[in-house]
Amino acid sequence: MKGVMLLPIVHNPRYNAEFPSDHRFPMGKFKRVAEVLVEEGLVGPGTFHVPGEAPAAWIALAHDRAYVDQVLGCEVPTKIAREIGFAMTPPVALRARCASAGTLLTAQLAMEHGIACNTAGGSHHARFEQGAGFCVFNDVAIAIRVLMADGAVERALVIDCDVHQGDGTAAIFANDPSVFTLSFHAEKNYPVRKVPSSLDVPLFDDCDDEHYLDAIRDVVRTTIHNVRPDIVFYNAGVDPHRDDRLGRLALSDEGLIERDRFVIDAVREAGIPLAGVLGGGYERDIDRLARRHATLHRVAAEFV
Ligand SMILES: [Zn+2]
Repeated sequence: MKGVMLLPIVHNPRYNAEFPSDHRFPMGKFKRVAEVLVEEGLVGPGTFHVPGEAPAAWIALAHDRAYVDQVLGCEVPTKIAREIGFAMTPPVALRARCASAGTLLTAQLAMEHGIACNTAGGSHHARFEQGAGFCVFNDVAIAIRVLMADGAVERALVIDCDVHQGDGTAAIFANDPSVFTLSFHAEKNYPVRKVPSSLDVPLFDDCDDEHYLDAIRDVVRTTIHNVRPDIVFYNAGVDPHRDDRLGRLALSDEGLIERDRFVIDAVREAGIPLAGVLGGGYERDIDRLARRHATLHRVAAEFV
């Protein structure tokens, strides 16, 4: 493999917090995604870039310090835990910290190599005050804030193709002109009360490959051109797939491949670094779900 550049892929075994297999949140997918990437030769064994745990000071750049301390102390009020969808335990808190550090590491690798991908991340429902919708910390928002605090970037663009609207990210950056948030999502899906992104593109139920790709093409190109960001964070959630339990859209596997290829190509053609994060996916079959999530890494590897 000497001389062959592989896609930088970020993974920490702690991304998997070991939930019961019948839990509504398919936690086992993080472990399986990493296995699939090794099996497919996208990453050599032992060559994942392994993030540590994000310190509270980083997380507090995007979240209320009181909430950060509640998570780290596993003392999240029941009402908030219910909104997140699971109780706060040490492994759950740890995975949220590692995923946040992982998205930051992904961004740093992207700035060095042009492109890099995390095997978690995209917790876009977590807002400043608290987590929600299976999201504890907003890893993308934390990464952007740390990069900006370091003076590494001045402008960032979030392209969020997870099927759910990126309300948490939109809220965190609502009054921040240095970050442009773009969300493509199913209009009639969670969250019921959507927080306006810089630009929202709501999609109708059962939207198929053709209509979806028609809806994103011009918007993605125009936004990249207008915003001229120093980095793009791409949330490649696979929940727009027709077999997803929480999706409402009707994309095929080929449609997701085309989507990822189009977005990544548009960003890289503009010479902008791209940090890919996993986003949502809620099929019951963990192997099939993990293989679908690995679409991001397979397609991103074409651009190394
Ligand atoms: Zn989602």
